[in-house]
Amino acid sequence: MSTKQTAVVGGGLMGIGIATKFALAGHEVLLLETAPARRAALPELITGILQELIEAKIITIAERAATLARIRRTDNLADLAPASLVIEAIPEVLDLKLELYRQLEAIVGATALLASNTSGFLPDALGAGLAHPERFLITHFWNPPHAIPLVEVVPGTRTAPACVELAVALLRDIGSEPVVLRKAVPGFIGNRLQFAVLREALHLVRSGVADPATIDAVMRTSLGRRYAIAGPLESADLGGLGTILQVAAHLLPELAKDEGVLEELRARTARGETGAASGTGFYHWDEARRAAMRQKRIDHQLSRPRA
Ligand code: NAD
Repeated sequence: MSTKQTAVVGGGLMGIGIATKFALAGHEVLLLETAPARRAALPELITGILQELIEAKIITIAERAATLARIRRTDNLADLAPASLVIEAIPEVLDLKLELYRQLEAIVGATALLASNTSGFLPDALGAGLAHPERFLITHFWNPPHAIPLVEVVPGTRTAPACVELAVALLRDIGSEPVVLRKAVPGFIGNRLQFAVLREALHLVRSGVADPATIDAVMRTSLGRRYAIAGPLESADLGGLGTILQVAAHLLPELAKDEGVLEELRARTARGETGAASGTGFYHWDEARRAAMRQKRIDHQLSRPRA
């Protein structure tokens, strides 16, 4: 059995990106998708991701063809039997995931690594019913996986250290940048940071301090740039902890702390304004805005130094 025999379960937004990332690194990828229409659309969707990488000069046209050829679609769980790594990326519904793991364990070998891309569930809750919980852990990719290198690796209390090491090695091998959490906590690290910022951004919108475009511009032209170079704690060191303490002492009591800001999201979703997928959220997502965002992703990749 090849150590590069990887399976991804769920060909949704995340699953196609994860499958593509592994295939780009030479893995033979089996992509299990149960919805027929989605399964039929997979080659076109994956071609779209690869096209972006061609325009960013990360891969060639020949590599696109070879990558596509390494991803095989299936609707049959039994096909996953030879997989040495299975990454689950099905919807965030606990019972669905638990049922899938139950079926998976009856099919894959006892040493195959089982990983979930869950954004919210903790590893001990997901792995509770497993016969071999020592080979289960969370590998939380960020959207879109072909452009965001971080993968948060979250072991459960029963995950074997050797499995964590193996997962980290495999993720490095595909060009991702894994980090391992010392213990599981809701939201892991990235979403805790992201939602702390989002809570304050929603609070600023609701308080009428500025419109969404202004708030996003502040982030993009200041913290967004800085954080690509130095994280918040490095930045605090550079700013001087004495100064940061003085500012924090009077600013922290002013920041949003409760869930009142969720009303902003509730009101918008109640109106059907659910974001880019619906065409409207904080912005109107017409073709021009979508194309501009795609081009920004490509330009950003083009400006990155190649390894
Ligand atoms: P999605 O709804 O886009 O895709 C899920 C896919 O799984 C669908 O195509 C569905 O048909 C398929 N599916 C459902 N049951 C299945 C089964 N038993 N076997 C095979 N396929 C099945 O969801 P998504 O946004 O890709 O999220 C997947 C997981 O990744 C969730 O746990 C989510 O929390 C997590 N996640 C999402 C994001 C994000 O930005 N969307 C980021 C990180 C993590």
